[in-house]
Amino acid sequence: MDLGLKGRSAIVCGASRGLGRACAESLAREGVNVVMAARRPDVLEQAAKEIRARTGAAIKTLPVDVTTPEGRKVLLSILPDPDILVTNAGGPPPGDFRDWDRAAWIKALDANMLTPIELIKATVDHMIARRFGRIVNITSAAVKAPIDILGLSNGARAGLTGFVAGLARQTVRHNVTINNLLPGPFDTDRLRVTMEGQAAKRGLSMDEVLDERRQANPAGRFGDPAEFGDACAFLCSAQAGYITGQNLLIDGGAFPGTL
Ligand code: NAD
Repeated sequence: MDLGLKGRSAIVCGASRGLGRACAESLAREGVNVVMAARRPDVLEQAAKEIRARTGAAIKTLPVDVTTPEGRKVLLSILPDPDILVTNAGGPPPGDFRDWDRAAWIKALDANMLTPIELIKATVDHMIARRFGRIVNITSAAVKAPIDILGLSNGARAGLTGFVAGLARQTVRHNVTINNLLPGPFDTDRLRVTMEGQAAKRGLSMDEVLDERRQANPAGRFGDPAEFGDACAFLCSAQAGYITGQNLLIDGGAFPGTL
């Protein structure tokens, strides 16, 4: 299926590793000119090199922290009017809400709610004027089924989800869609770091904890980031103009509900 994206432009945030990187690669394979943003220049450039080699796509890299106003300013000066925006940043740390002060909350809200909103605000009117735009926010399965120790994430991402639900109904008549992709357990560095903490706490080996988690998923495995990237590319496709305001779980069936 040709997704009708050749020659389109995209900003992908948090693109040096994991799910953001996979979204950048899937879009690049469809002929999208991608600007990849992440904090560490060496990791970012290595990722871009590999994606260029595999796809032949034109890729620019920008080593910025997208959660800062300065970082976003530089990013948007390189590509102020992308056709596609994929928002993403690392998730907040787990913990007990009694230990989180105002600064911890502001940091989480900045990274996982206000940064996507600022990026949407800066780009959506260009998309509306052009009558094409696709915005995908990488959030979390925890939006549908909150995880107790991830209170900062649950709170911040719920705020973004509510905001998107309202805006996505205003932009779709201009062929600008806004959707959220909700990852369950995907085999990325973040998942491994989280599991390392659990292994240490429970006195188990990493292999034991990883295997237990794989078996707990109906699919019997973790998600492959490439599967996530391809779902993102489809939501960005020309064909997906009637899908907006959705929260699409990609979790191997882990969420047990019908809706
Ligand atoms: P990851 O740690 O493997 O990769 C995160 C990427 O974002 C890296 O490229 C990192 O450099 C970049 N990044 C982080 N903070 C940034 C910032 N401030 N500015 C620019 N770039 C930044 O993480 P991942 O597994 O790909 O997860 C992506 C998102 O999905 C996170 O918000 C995470 O909480 C969420 N998530 C992941 C899983 C999973 O199983 N992997 C599950 C649920 C939710």
